Amino acid sequence: MVERQRTILLSLRQITEEVRAQVSFENKISLLVERIRATTGADCCSLYLTDALGQYLRLAATDGLSQAAVGKATLKLGEGLVGYVGLKQELLDLADAPSHPNFKYLPEVGEDEYCSFLGVPVVNLGKLSGVLVVQSRERLRFGELEESFMVTLAAQVASIIANYRAESSENAVKRYRGEHGSGGIAIAKAVVWQAGVSLDDLQILYSDDPQLQQELFHQCIFQLQTEMDRAALEMEEKQKKQAAFGYMSGYGRLLDDTSFQDEVDNEIVRRNLTAPSAIKVVVQQRLEQVNREDEQDKYFDLRDFAQVLVSRLLNTEQLHQTHQDSPIVLVSRSFPAAIVAQLSKERIAGFVAVDSGVSSHTAVLARDLGIPSVIGVQLDLNTVDGHDIIVNGQTAEVLVDPSPSVALEYGQLESQSREQADLYSKERFEKGVTLDGSRIFIELNAGLSHDAVAELPQQTDGIGLYRTEIAFMLSEGFPLEQTQYEWYVKLLRQYSKLPVTMRTLDVGGDKDLSYLPIREQNPALGWRGVRITLDQPQILKTQLHAMLRAHAECGNLQVMVPMVSRLEEAQAVRQIFDECFEELQQSLDRELAKPKFGLMLEVPSVVYLLEELAGLCDFFSIGSNDLISYLLAVDRNNPKVTRFYDPFHPAVVRCLGYLNRKSRELGREIVVCGEMAGSPLGALLLLSLGYERLSMNYSEMGRVRYLVRRVSLPELREVGERAVQGGSCEQIRSLYLTYAHSQGLDRIIELAEQSAK
Ligand code: PEP
Ligand code: MG
Repeated sequence: MVERQRTILLSLRQITEEVRAQVSFENKISLLVERIRATTGADCCSLYLTDALGQYLRLAATDGLSQAAVGKATLKLGEGLVGYVGLKQELLDLADAPSHPNFKYLPEVGEDEYCSFLGVPVVNLGKLSGVLVVQSRERLRFGELEESFMVTLAAQVASIIANYRAESSENAVKRYRGEHGSGGIAIAKAVVWQAGVSLDDLQILYSDDPQLQQELFHQCIFQLQTEMDRAALEMEEKQKKQAAFGYMSGYGRLLDDTSFQDEVDNEIVRRNLTAPSAIKVVVQQRLEQVNREDEQDKYFDLRDFAQVLVSRLLNTEQLHQTHQDSPIVLVSRSFPAAIVAQLSKERIAGFVAVDSGVSSHTAVLARDLGIPSVIGVQLDLNTVDGHDIIVNGQTAEVLVDPSPSVALEYGQLESQSREQADLYSKERFEKGVTLDGSRIFIELNAGLSHDAVAELPQQTDGIGLYRTEIAFMLSEGFPLEQTQYEWYVKLLRQYSKLPVTMRTLDVGGDKDLSYLPIREQNPALGWRGVRITLDQPQILKTQLHAMLRAHAECGNLQVMVPMVSRLEEAQAVRQIFDECFEELQQSLDRELAKPKFGLMLEVPSVVYLLEELAGLCDFFSIGSNDLISYLLAVDRNNPKVTRFYDPFHPAVVRCLGYLNRKSRELGREIVVCGEMAGSPLGALLLLSLGYERLSMNYSEMGRVRYLVRRVSLPELREVGERAVQGGSCEQIRSLYLTYAHSQGLDRIIELAEQSAK
């Protein structure tokens, strides 16, 4: 045994050195499998590698199986023993492989004669890159020594594969990670928008005809105004009034700003400047007054606007005329609202922005309307124009010049998602009723998207979360009560037969208002949500007055409060809410039905305060995005730790199970409005734990409804009982994967998981 151990150790070193000495990757892996087979005394050794999306394992080298199967024999992750090792990322040592339930016979590889099987996952930085396998005719487990030999070699192989992938042209896709992403996948040509002339580079020039310069300037303003009006009208016709308002607000307000026009006129006359030079002078003075860090939206709007004007005046504006008829991915430093307004909206497949002002108007709109977008991507604008680009809003990744095989895989994913969407669309007016007849309420999370498609009210059981902060973000300053009333009454009327849950202003954290800049070391734990509105009660009172006035007309309002972490906060907001309601009844001199009042469960402290909180509210709503982040101490926008953000973490599952059980005991309704409610596997988990109300983005409603209508609640409840006992994310997740498989729902789950990879 000791002798054998020594031989194996020696071989390990030799194999590693010999393999590294090979130049080509193919030679490296061929030599590797040959040497491993010889050292272990096995009859066969093979290496399977993952494909670009990590969904399949393909035979890459073998000593013992058919050479004709190399590059062809493919197993899906989870399929066969190799797929099983890959999926579980666990070693499997079997004396009698064909008797294992996961065994799959692949006639083309010629493994009929082999009986024993030892497979180890090849993992690099937590990500599967392949599976290494030895097989023998003899019915005998390989044993500990071979296992540890294979595990050690697999670690070496992982780094060889990683190096190869980094270098190989097949994978020399330029991959960029952004700070924030939203929406699904877009694949198209990149069109870069940059102002033709940079303000900084513009030379100050003088003219002896100020009248002509003024005329040119006003003509340019007029022309832009007309274009914007036309674009706004087009959008209104498509029932996207709110969206139109969003696209226009930044530039529209500058175009209508007569003081800006007066200042430019003044500079032209007073200093004999040309129109572009006068614009530069005025805008630079204005930019100096704006704090670039704190007022990003305002800063970029002003700078982009000036560059559009100057470029037009110099006739060098280079809005690209290429690819005019096919969809494009618009890439720019920040999102230029005026340029977006000039393009046909149907043609914008995705957005990519270099600057990271996530609350800028178009970014908010893209997120809400479900346009794939990635923000805060460090890519060089000079190198991507006209190149193929893939935007994955789910992973906040951008791929430039993907190799044909990568493009093909993403393309398939995109078209499969579209096909799936068509399938869901057939049932869009059906109710969420499970196979056993239980009613599941599918509600909408909205900011602007409640306007996005016609007949949306007929497709939902209500608005489970209306994010009022989106409309606040699109305003120049805190909106007046009357303005807010108009927003709210419109929404309540639009969804008149349904409950509409409006959330009081939830800013701070990653949601900033340009007119309420908050700079903090640790914003997630800082001044946000109800903490702000209680410190500035006037904001809260104005908002509640506006909401309640709208309710007095329509009667379908529900109010809820975000980020509650202390009983005192809940008491204080409840008191203000009651007072506002009383004031309204007195001023109208009539009794009104009181809107339901809810509290969001997003901070772990409230899990232990449910009894007291129940005395203060009518319902609870779980903000699972924040709750999971805080429970697991994970910022899911931080690429180093996103993989630890997991709704299937045993602590999350138990917490969610408890929240549902307890709130029912307390006689309070409970909704989940975080993103897990809209993900197929997340929805299954919630249903299994007893949740009956799920609220999600409109792009996710179809697939959740489709899923709900194909599951049995009693069966799922059994799965839920096992899940709360589970000890690991993987173990719990696999319970739901198995259930989904039993109902023929694998495809939905797969597609959702793939695009999130
Ligand atoms: C949540 O935290 O799950 C939630 C719905 O709120 P937010 O708007 O912060 O995503
Ligand atoms: Mg939240």
